[in-house]
Amino acid sequence: MLKVTFAHMGNSYIPFRTLLSELGLDPVVPPPITRRTITLGLKLAPEFVCFPLKVNLGNYVEAIESGAECIFMAGGVGPCRFGYYGELQREILHQANYPVEFLVLEAPKTHWTELWDKIKRYVPKHRLVDLFNAARLAWLKAKALDDFDDLLNRIRPLEKWPGTTTKVQTAFYRALDEAGMIRDIHIVHQRGLEELRAIAITPDDSVLRIILLGEIYMVLEPQVNFQIERVLGEMGVEVSRTIYFARWVYETLFLSLVKPDWRKKYDLLAKPYLSNFVGGHGIETVAYTVKAAANNYHGVIELAPFTCMPEIVAMQVLPEVSRKLSIPVLSVIIDEHAAEAGVRTRLEAFIDLLKHRHWKNEADKRHFIRTG
Ligand code: SF4
Repeated sequence: MLKVTFAHMGNSYIPFRTLLSELGLDPVVPPPITRRTITLGLKLAPEFVCFPLKVNLGNYVEAIESGAECIFMAGGVGPCRFGYYGELQREILHQANYPVEFLVLEAPKTHWTELWDKIKRYVPKHRLVDLFNAARLAWLKAKALDDFDDLLNRIRPLEKWPGTTTKVQTAFYRALDEAGMIRDIHIVHQRGLEELRAIAITPDDSVLRIILLGEIYMVLEPQVNFQIERVLGEMGVEVSRTIYFARWVYETLFLSLVKPDWRKKYDLLAKPYLSNFVGGHGIETVAYTVKAAANNYHGVIELAPFTCMPEIVAMQVLPEVSRKLSIPVLSVIIDEHAAEAGVRTRLEAFIDLLKHRHWKNEADKRHFIRTG
C-alpha cells in the first residue's frame, strides 16, 4: 500500500488520515511540529521563502523518516506563492536526496482532467462511490472539528477551573480520530459538544471579544502560532476565528464551482481600503476587520508569516481601517526567529489596552446616562 503523507495544518490531520485510508492508501501522519521540524525545514528551504513552506518541508522529512513515499498536497492559483509550492518542494526534496513522489491536487475549477488523471494513477479505490464515501467521512470529521472549536473558544474564557476545556479538547480530538463509521463520528461530535456545555463556568458579561484572522496556516496551526487561541482564552478573551478548515474546503472546492462570485461579499467590504485581489486571505483580512468594527468586537489580531505577500499588503491598509472605524488591530508577524515570550508579551499588552478602552467606554456610557 502506498505510504502517503501531508503537512500538518492544525487539526486537519484527522480528516486527512481518514480520507487517505478510506481511499486505500496508507497515511503517514508526520510527528507533531517541534523545534526539530522547523530546523529540518530551515536547512532545506531558501531563506526568504514563506515560513509555512519551511515548516512543511520539516514535516515531510520527518514523515519520510517514518516511511512515507508520497506527499499529498493541494495546489493553488493566483498572485500568492502557494501556486508553486508543490513544484518547489519537489525540487528541494529531490535535490536533498529524498526521492518521494508528489501528488499535487489542483483546484478542480481550473484543472479537472489533470485532477482526475492523478486520482486514477495514485488512488487504489477511485470509483466514484469510493471517492464519495471517503470524502463524506472526512467531511463529517472536519465539520465536527469546526463546530467543536467554535464552541470551545466561547467557553474557555469563562471556565471555572483553568485547563478544563483543553482536557476535553484533547480527548475529543483523539476520539474523533479513532471514529471509523458515520454513526461513531456523529456520536463523538454530539458528545464533545455536550461535554463542553457541561463545563463549569463563571458567567461574565464583560468578556473581551476579538477576531483572529490572517494567513490560513498561521491561524490554524497552534504549533507555529504559539497556541494563540488557548493563550487568549486563558487570559479571559473570547476568540472568533475567521478561518475554519471545513468551511475553507467548502468555499474552495464547492462554492467556487457552483457560485463563482461567492467572494463578492468580502470584496465589497474591503473595497474602500483594498480593491484588488492580492491572493491568499488578504482581502478577507481587510473585510473581516471592517466587519469586526461593525459588529462591535473589541479588537482584531492579524497573524502573518514573514514574507507573506497577501498579508503584508493587507497590513498596509489596516491602520487606516483601524483609525476610521475605531477598531484596535494588532498585527503579529511570525517566523523561525519569533519567540513565545515575545509574542505573549505583545498579546498581554494588547489585551490590557483593550480592557482599558472597554472600561473607559463603559464609564463614559454610564456618565452620559446619568447626566443626559
Ligand atoms: S499566503 Fe502567504 S505564506 Fe501562504 S503561500 Fe501565500 S505568500 Fe506564502
